[in-house]
Amino acid sequence: MKTINHLPHHIVSKIAAGEVVDRPASAIKELVENSLDAGATYIQIILEQGGLKKIVVKDDGKGMSKEDLEICFLPHTTSKITTEKDLDTIQSFGFRGEALSSIAAVSHMTIKSRKTDAEHGYMVELIPFQEPTLSSAGIPVGTEIEIKDLFSTIPARKKFVKDSRTELRHIVDAITTIALSFPRVGFILEHDGNVIVNVPKEQNLQERIHALLGDDIGMQMMPITHESQYGRLNGFIGKPQLAGSSRAHQYLFVNNRSITHLPISRTVTESFGSLIEPRTHAVFVVSLELPYESVDVNVHPRKEEVAFAYPKNILELCEEAVVTTLKNNNITYKKISSDFMKERGMDGSTADMLKDMVTPWNLKPENMQEISQLHNLYLVAPTADGILLVDQHAAHERILFEQFKEAFRNSHATGAVFELPESLLINLPASDSIILDEHAETLQKLGFDISLFGVNTFKLCAVPDVFKDRNYKELISEFINDMREGRNSGSKLDRTTERTLAFMACRTAVKAGDPLAPDERKRLLEKLLACPAGYTCPHGRPTHIEVSMNELDKMFKRK
Ligand code: ADP
Ligand code: MG
Repeated sequence: MKTINHLPHHIVSKIAAGEVVDRPASAIKELVENSLDAGATYIQIILEQGGLKKIVVKDDGKGMSKEDLEICFLPHTTSKITTEKDLDTIQSFGFRGEALSSIAAVSHMTIKSRKTDAEHGYMVELIPFQEPTLSSAGIPVGTEIEIKDLFSTIPARKKFVKDSRTELRHIVDAITTIALSFPRVGFILEHDGNVIVNVPKEQNLQERIHALLGDDIGMQMMPITHESQYGRLNGFIGKPQLAGSSRAHQYLFVNNRSITHLPISRTVTESFGSLIEPRTHAVFVVSLELPYESVDVNVHPRKEEVAFAYPKNILELCEEAVVTTLKNNNITYKKISSDFMKERGMDGSTADMLKDMVTPWNLKPENMQEISQLHNLYLVAPTADGILLVDQHAAHERILFEQFKEAFRNSHATGAVFELPESLLINLPASDSIILDEHAETLQKLGFDISLFGVNTFKLCAVPDVFKDRNYKELISEFINDMREGRNSGSKLDRTTERTLAFMACRTAVKAGDPLAPDERKRLLEKLLACPAGYTCPHGRPTHIEVSMNELDKMFKRK
């Protein structure tokens, strides 16, 4: 039976053209979505070298007939829409008929498939610039697609693809996202022989969240559900204490399709009001079910964004949903003014301006006795020709960063090590676990005794003494977020080490709000003076500002 049709030209031109496959993760996403469209209940993904060498996606979906197999890899062949009108009410992931043809064009692809009622299956092998070959194949019901040497035919694309770890991270993110929107479908993801994701069939969303995002998130989610005339919202939101510095754990689905939507993401976070810290983001896994005709999924080549017919009403729905959920959970709610977001934004311009300021300051020994502390935040001292203002946290951060770097170069830990009385197991989301694994060696050199213990689980046995008695789980999770955001400190060590050191410096430095004794203030300034790159903190903020007498005189119109 033939179910795949050629799309007429006028529909083809209606479909936004664009890049479908830009890296292994997007190829895998297309394949897995095809499996879901085919009604699969279990999907296996097996990878080598971040998917660049080999990708295999196996499903137990309805399969393809011989006739369908013969044309499925041609451009604009799809079984999912037939008329122009279908474009307005798309329920499947696919509809453009572009994925298989795009991937086939840049790889060596083999498609095996067997229909539910067929005696045996067929396979077609597609090698670039060669005629496709079709033959019978003994496989179970379903489809198995193998892609070898992705992008090998286009060196230019290959250059944009990062190392296999980075690609793996994108793949894990993509699979985590898809697996969250289909809790009833089982997934297994293997990379170079290691199981990275393994979730069984028939889970409910709560079990799925726990399995994919780890204990910490899994145990602190609240169910959320709300309905208005514009649609229905369902899922889970994290308790306020889960909010973190990254949006990595925000999952939004619209009619089962994963999208990113900044206004919704902001609305959810803002609806927590003062319950969560400025510059942190709520954690959520939320699905919106909207009438198909009120969402346009055809605005983005990889379908990662959608356009809503009633955007304001959708935001209202989200806000009401969060507010109601917080109330239901007896979490006191306080609404914050609309200036809230403005306050959250960091103004980087001052930092940039001061970065290049390299006038040496001249602190006389007698001035050292006169350092005062302002609002437990700034140190103020007279200099030979003006006043000096120092940001105590930024300054200390820089001093420690230089110390840690020095220690690291001489390859010993940054000081004493504190052995935890009881080792701590930390269970993480798969994508976090990859980031931590990437940095584990550096952390070990710095005095952390941390190692992979099981699938996505690490064992922490010791920390550098400076971190003694901290909340270690929180520390590690902040560390992962910093590494993910790629905060850079601009020194010459490799990026991993440098960022790790900057993180350590930041988390061990005196904070804004810490009172300092007079001799501590003095030591801080002396050390900052001796610091080779003392003008900014490792993240580029200024550590100090000097105002000369000349400038003061001008301000007071003495000159
Ligand atoms: P689209 O998904 O937009 O229709 P694709 O190029 O991804 O386009 O796939 C082309 C066609 O191949 C699909 O419409 C479907 O009929 C068939 N197909 C692809 N993958 C599978 C699969 N895993 N199981 C069954 N059929 C598939
Ligand atoms: Mg498809």
